[in-house]
Amino acid sequence: MNYCSHCGQPVSFVIPPGDDRPRYLCQACGTIHYQNPRIVAGTLPVSGDQVLLCKRAIAPRLGYWTLPAGFMENGESTPAAAARETREEACAEVDLQGLYTLINLPHINQVFMIFRGTLLGEFAAGPESLEVALFREDEIPWDELAFPTIERTLRHFFSDRQRNAFPLHVSDITPEDRERYFGSA
Ligand code: ZN
Repeated sequence: MNYCSHCGQPVSFVIPPGDDRPRYLCQACGTIHYQNPRIVAGTLPVSGDQVLLCKRAIAPRLGYWTLPAGFMENGESTPAAAARETREEACAEVDLQGLYTLINLPHINQVFMIFRGTLLGEFAAGPESLEVALFREDEIPWDELAFPTIERTLRHFFSDRQRNAFPLHVSDITPEDRERYFGSA
């Protein structure tokens, strides 16, 4: 941020009085522009022994496979955001069965939240997808997944499915995890 969105004057990146970390502070009008992590919400749609994946039609990672997920909007709940993203990217409805993975990405200021659910009815590629398809475990394109969050969620799922128990998995992705993932992709 270079300029104050309130008054248009240049901002400085300093620790405001009484605070403990630097913020974008406008010395002209006194506004402190707080920045906080963004939530990415999505679903893991399951149909029998298959899961639904979307091939991305947009950057980043165009052409790679992902779960339907995207940035939460103001005024939404996390399940509503996950369901909306699934509708937008896969033209699909899902009967949500609870939060399944919560992955912190502190180095890019994001929190990733995937809800597991049963795929209901038909699906099709939305405007942000080139293709939407169902995959059995042995058909998953592991080398063509878009993000480490997607791979981690799918690995948990196929492991949990052997016991038919799907607890919430909370974890972090570190810069090293990210480098390892994109370095080998
Ligand atoms: Zn200002």
